[in-house]
Amino acid sequence: MRIAVIGGGAAGLSASIAAADNGAEVTLFERNDRVGKKLLLTGNGRCNLTNLSMDTTCYYPFESRDFVREELKSFSSVECISFFENLGLITKDKNGYVYPHNEQASSVLDILRNAVSNRGIELKTQHEIIDIKPDCGNKRLFGISAKTGNENGEEEKRYYFDRVILATGGMSYKKTGSDGNGYQLLKGLGHSIVKPMPALCALKGEGGFYKAVSGVRCEAELSLFVNDQNVCRESGELQITDYGISGIPVFQFSRLAGEALKDKSTVKVTADFLPGLPAEDMEAFADSRIKALRVKSFGEFFEGLINKKLMLLILKKSGLKPEMAFEGARDRERVLKVFRLIKGFDFVINSTNSFDNAQTTAGGVPVAEINADYSSKIISWLYIIGELVDIDGKCGGYNLHHAWMSGIRAGKSAAV
Ligand SMILES: Cc1cc2nc3c(=O)[nH]c(=O)nc-3n(C[C@H](O)[C@H](O)[C@H](O)COP(=O)(O)OP(=O)(O)OC[C@H]3O[C@@H](n4cnc5c(N)ncnc54)[C@H](O)[C@@H]3O)c2cc1C
Repeated sequence: MRIAVIGGGAAGLSASIAAADNGAEVTLFERNDRVGKKLLLTGNGRCNLTNLSMDTTCYYPFESRDFVREELKSFSSVECISFFENLGLITKDKNGYVYPHNEQASSVLDILRNAVSNRGIELKTQHEIIDIKPDCGNKRLFGISAKTGNENGEEEKRYYFDRVILATGGMSYKKTGSDGNGYQLLKGLGHSIVKPMPALCALKGEGGFYKAVSGVRCEAELSLFVNDQNVCRESGELQITDYGISGIPVFQFSRLAGEALKDKSTVKVTADFLPGLPAEDMEAFADSRIKALRVKSFGEFFEGLINKKLMLLILKKSGLKPEMAFEGARDRERVLKVFRLIKGFDFVINSTNSFDNAQTTAGGVPVAEINADYSSKIISWLYIIGELVDIDGKCGGYNLHHAWMSGIRAGKSAAV
């Protein structure tokens, strides 16, 4: 079986290896001058390649979860780890998040590249596939056209294969090579595309206060409200930027926020900067502090509770200045007003960050158009894998897990 794999990212590399291991003659096409550019960026250069806590709720959209449930039965995180161990990679887990033992994404890529080379897979870099078609002259073969070349010039070449595995990625971080061109190839072959949307990204906010608190990083419990309904809660390190909010808890619900904004719903993230203090104990805590502290100003009263820059902003929003005189129990209402903001600060959201700053892409080919082995229901010789499919995971190794899972499943199936 002669197989073309188009796209040398996580999905395409694992598909090539699985197909070669099952006896296929594989050619891997990559438009860049090298494979796996995005892989090097993953997990801040450490590559969080899967997660021991794995279930369908880690994946979106809701309509794809039944499909994902079936796939995870044959490729759990244990199978993922043993795929890498068989290639020679030792892994380690940190609270369930799995990384290469040396925490270097470059090792994951090197091991995959070695596996490609040692299996005799033909690697054609600087080959951008611009067309895929059944070849009219020979019904068994399918032709793909590649634009090849470098600064010295370009040319177009045509190649023929029995099967094609398309792994050109989504639209995020296009400098790594994934710019959404795979959607056009798929549309040309009769597939539909759920409109792509940035996911696992920062959220942009309304309000002129961001510059004053830009750079703040602090622990918080965040609640996402869509049309004033609490739809999700996440805890972790919040990062405030000069345009909005970022950090892993924000990434985790950026997908739901993006979807809500697309539907023209109102979106708000409410931060609790003192999550260790239960809401019902807030007044008692404030009263005991009023009683215990012998301070002269509001600045002194709130010192040390939360990040200083944030505290200044919250005092300002409460109509107070840090140097204003503090008059003990007589200022109780003003103190409670500040505490209410500390435990419920609203960030009104008006957009997600762009594809260029999003870790993954929501949308793509609906799972209704593919079979369990990631073959197309429309064109039997075509397989569609990785971020091209309308499956996106949460932060924590879930997107790479899907890339390996779909790649290995499709590679094995296409080879026989
Ligand atoms: C900064 C960052 C950090 C991340 N960290 C993590 C993490 O720690 N854990 C995790 O699970 N996920 C992480 N992700 C997400 C994860 O990296 C992606 O979901 C995954 O790499 C997608 O794999 P893919 O093979 O489908 O696509 P890609 O990795 O995007 O690969 C597609 C490849 O196809 C090539 N290509 C495109 N069009 C053509 C064409 N026409 N012809 C030939 N080649 C083509 C591209 O050049 C590219 O090499 C991160 C993403 C980013 C951006």
